[in-house]
Amino acid sequence: MTSSRPFNFSAGPAVLPEPVLRQVAAEMLDWGGSGMSVMEMSHRGKEFGSILAAAEADLRELLAVPANFRILFMQGGGLGENAIVPLNLSRGGKVDVVVTGSWSRKSASEARRYADVQVAAEGTGREIPRDWQLRDDAAYVHVCTNETIDGVEFHDLPQLTNGVPLVIDCSSHLLSRPIDWSRVGLAFGGAQKNVGPAGVTLVFVREDLLGHALDICPTAFNYETVANNQSMYNTPPTFGIYVAGLVFQWLKGFDYAGKRGLAAIEQRNIDKAALLYGMLDGSGFYENRVAPSCRSRMNVPFFLKDESLNDAFLAESKATGLLQLKGHKSVGGMRASIYNAMSLEGVQALVSFMKDFEARHG
Ligand SMILES: *Cc1c(COP(=O)(O)O)cnc(C)c1O
Repeated sequence: MTSSRPFNFSAGPAVLPEPVLRQVAAEMLDWGGSGMSVMEMSHRGKEFGSILAAAEADLRELLAVPANFRILFMQGGGLGENAIVPLNLSRGGKVDVVVTGSWSRKSASEARRYADVQVAAEGTGREIPRDWQLRDDAAYVHVCTNETIDGVEFHDLPQLTNGVPLVIDCSSHLLSRPIDWSRVGLAFGGAQKNVGPAGVTLVFVREDLLGHALDICPTAFNYETVANNQSMYNTPPTFGIYVAGLVFQWLKGFDYAGKRGLAAIEQRNIDKAALLYGMLDGSGFYENRVAPSCRSRMNVPFFLKDESLNDAFLAESKATGLLQLKGHKSVGGMRASIYNAMSLEGVQALVSFMKDFEARHG
């Protein structure tokens, strides 16, 4: 089925796969012959139970999550986790944060409310800094593996050799590529970038990190409590989990370049990013300022060298059916977020618009 919808480059909440939206629409009034919308079901009934179980199993399979990790469906978003992680993992002790951009900077300042936080290294937002000053007695090290605003991505997870657990905020590239769980203690991500609607936060936590929450940790945010209650200590975000579950099924069946599932979506993400960065680098009219070794496959900030053309660029791109290309206010310029659900055709359309715009205004 081909779409006539515009291409949506929003950084989040962001584009969802059209087949998923169509299925949600078709099931809106009556899910699976139950006579109820998913929004109207008890979270403890067998219908929602089956939705949650399938979502968790599919997610575990897609990301090859090891058996000693629990998957939690929470609320509070990435910013909520900036508090929930130190409340659960810091034990009131030391936390090292590597600052690679806006989101990890926010994580460091929130964790300061609960722990002794040290910035282990700080980049400019255009690269991953070297020479991390890590403390062997830290409770964990926090990194943001894809800086949504700056467009900086870790293409390999750091291998910490001192046994300190690594916590990753992977909100904006979760499910765009595999995760090397051997290097991770805890991963979290809000759903609204690459996974589903806003309101669901996914947490993957290694079992040995459960059970150390501070007394002041709200019970509903205690990972051990949430895990022991299969994400149903309190009412989970049922509709969002349902939509995310449909996204997982879409991903499992995704075919591209002779590959299937996560490998297929990763390959398409690589191809989309190569197309867009290739055009930017080949142009004297546009530029991306992030070091090539850590450019994000998901969020591509770029600038028109003549910034007086910004308004015209945004107006014309929108009129062409290319939506939400304005950059984050802290960075300026433009940003194209090209998450899993963005097609190759969408990026091709963006690239040809940009070439055409350059020809007319360059
Ligand atoms: C969007 C985002 C957040 C914040 O998510 P909220 O759901 O708004 O709390 C945190 N970290 C990263 C990397 C993000 O992209």
